[in-house]
Amino acid sequence: MTDKKINQKNEIKKEPKKEMAQSVRGMRDIFNEDYYYYQGFFEKAQEVAMYYGFKPIETPIMEQEALWTSGIGEGTDIIDKEMYTLKTKGGDKLAIRPEYTASIMRAYFEKGMQSLPQPVMLYSYGPVYRHDNPQNGRYREFRQFNLEILGTEKSIADALIIKTAVSILKEAGAQEIIVDINSIGDKESRPVYIKELVNYYKKHIADLSPIDRERLKTNPLRILDSKDPRTIKINENAPDSIASLSSAGKKHFKQVLEYLDQMNIAYRINKNLVRGLSYYSHTVFEILETSGGTDVTPLAIGGGGRYDYLAKTLGAKKDVPAMGMAIGVDRVVEATWFKKLEPRIMKKPKIYFIQLGFEAKLKSLNVVEQLRMAHIPIMQSISKDTLGIQLAIAEKSGAPYALIFGHKEAIDNTVIVRDMQNRKQETIKLDHLAEYLKKLK
Ligand code: ATP
Ligand code: MG
Repeated sequence: MTDKKINQKNEIKKEPKKEMAQSVRGMRDIFNEDYYYYQGFFEKAQEVAMYYGFKPIETPIMEQEALWTSGIGEGTDIIDKEMYTLKTKGGDKLAIRPEYTASIMRAYFEKGMQSLPQPVMLYSYGPVYRHDNPQNGRYREFRQFNLEILGTEKSIADALIIKTAVSILKEAGAQEIIVDINSIGDKESRPVYIKELVNYYKKHIADLSPIDRERLKTNPLRILDSKDPRTIKINENAPDSIASLSSAGKKHFKQVLEYLDQMNIAYRINKNLVRGLSYYSHTVFEILETSGGTDVTPLAIGGGGRYDYLAKTLGAKKDVPAMGMAIGVDRVVEATWFKKLEPRIMKKPKIYFIQLGFEAKLKSLNVVEQLRMAHIPIMQSISKDTLGIQLAIAEKSGAPYALIFGHKEAIDNTVIVRDMQNRKQETIKLDHLAEYLKKLK
């Protein structure tokens, strides 16, 4: 009203309307129940990883851009269009992590982990950033839980990574897990296979989409997981990598499948599975949950593979055989099968703490601290002053007891404990409060 009058008289110029800043497209605030779902998942995932012998590591969200451009390579979605890059005021070219593996490999060398007993087994988790096309299950900021085993080429590492991921997903409620798996071979067999593929695609070049024609030059393997309907058709008859595996490669893949059989993990060999990143060798896999029916192709909830040649690509003097995977946590938490895991810190408070007036508020935080030390969680509404309002909130909260702390109690160092059900009240000395509350049911 007043604003209007002033404006009409033209006494004060109207300030230009400021647009309130909005969150970035594809990035979300996570709070309330959702927050606890993520927290519960991460706690459970860490616990399972710990039982299987993995240790935690956290790497910076930003790295030199070159870490990923050389590690992941051209012709991949991430490098071609998805990575967030920036130039610092000092002129450094940095990138915000689109995945963890290259960072973990960097840390392995930088922190001298090659001199530890091998293999080194690490888990990590946190947000990753990709300029993806936001839609169902696809964000620009999303969270991964990662498992990596560095320093062994043994097939048991491949099996252990898959088994640990499957166990984590089962704990999170997954009912029907299927592992899509393939082997894309080693140094010997891969060039032979790629040559075969290129020859095949050259015969069908007229039917390839422009992107896939480009990939024929930069990263022909990627044509195998093209989303283009015409290319998908061509891929049906493409040569498969398993046929051209070296004898060592064949043996490795056979052993991995034997482990999966032994552990009763359902899998299907998918000859078109090459995965988005170019550093993979030998085993590559994706994990799907199919309890929602087969009429819609379920989104992959995790994926990974062996990356025996990544170390040298990053500039290391020698290769480090390694295997890893990432779970897409947002897709897990949003799945219909997700079992809402309660975080460990979540406790249902039995007590609602009512403070009345300044004298009581002044002392109230000391009371909360005393209760915290005794592991008694409370609820409170610090901005309210009247008893009626606070009692009503206490009633709504479902807490079986309320503490009433007014002026008189503050002076006497006492507090009134009220049974919310029968409305009986008792005055208790602050010194004995924790002890008294612990005895209550
Ligand atoms: P896609 O083919 O779906 O793009 P990707 O191969 O790029 O997957 P990975 O790099 O293997 O994905 O990442 C591991 C997991 O992270 C995926 O299996 C998926 O569950 C999840 N993920 C990947 N991209 C996104 C995204 N943009 N939003 C949410 N989750 C994602
Ligand atoms: Mg992708």
